[in-house]
Amino acid sequence: MRATRQGQQGGRVSIEAPMDASNVMLICPNGECERANRPVRTRSAVTDEGRKIRVCAKCGAEIPTAE
Ligand SMILES: [Zn+2]
Repeated sequence: MRATRQGQQGGRVSIEAPMDASNVMLICPNGECERANRPVRTRSAVTDEGRKIRVCAKCGAEIPTAE
């Protein structure tokens, strides 16, 4: 992300950077990963039904999305 210029006057500016969904860090629902208590890297996968899902790159558990 580009750093904002220092010393700028005015209100806070929030920048919503477009993020590749596959790079978003999520908490894995898998118990073992959950114990680690930190976000896991995900990768996308396609189910047998052709549904696009996200899976934990660590354990392969499906991570449901809020979309
Ligand atoms: Zn996991």
